[in-house]
Amino acid sequence: MPTVAAVSEWLDECTHVFEGRVDELNELDGILGDGDHGTNMYRGFAAARRLDLSECPNANDAMRQVGMSLVGTVGGASGPLFGTLLLRVGATWPDHLTLAGVAASLRQGTNGVMARGKAVRGDKTMVDVLLPALDSLEADARRGADLESAILDAVDAADEARDATAAMVAHRGRSALKSESSVGVVDPGAVSTALILRTGATRIRE
Ligand code: ADP
Ligand code: MG
Ligand code: MG
Repeated sequence: MPTVAAVSEWLDECTHVFEGRVDELNELDGILGDGDHGTNMYRGFAAARRLDLSECPNANDAMRQVGMSLVGTVGGASGPLFGTLLLRVGATWPDHLTLAGVAASLRQGTNGVMARGKAVRGDKTMVDVLLPALDSLEADARRGADLESAILDAVDAADEARDATAAMVAHRGRSALKSESSVGVVDPGAVSTALILRTGATRIRE
């Protein structure tokens, strides 16, 4: 059973991690966009961390609260997208954790991001981390892997996918305006997505 406390701990760690990566993420976004991605993510998570989640009846509700907060506080294109991810995952996260249930929930979240932002695989966005992480989870589910090892595989796939965005040409968001100079640079939203998945993964236990 996922707990509200686990969501709070994840939020604390995300805030701490983003605080330490503000400059790096702003620098990447400075090359590809307008240089504010690190500031946006840190502001959003710092605001979400100030939510009082103690009244939430369960982890699903806590995730939805965080999602709504991110939509309103991250700002930029990424706020509604990370917010949608959390809202959808919160709406579908299984009570009893199973690999199939976790994969289905992340699938819903990713579908929400893609519906909202219209990015597809290869556009050099956060979607290019979400989809490979999902592919890994679903492939592990098909071969009957256990939840913990599948989660570890998925966050490794997310890190690899983050690095692979460097070779891509940007087709969505602000960075599409600088598509020629985008090759060779990792997408900042992809970096953030891999960080969020890794901090979350350590708290998922059967
Ligand atoms: P803004 O571009 O408004 O300044 P941010 O800098 O916070 O917003 O976020 C930029 C990141 O958002 C990108 O690196 C990319 O991963 C993600 N992003 C932008 N537009 C889209 C989109 N349409 N679909 C998916 N992800 C997107
Ligand atoms: Mg930006
Ligand atoms: Mg901006």
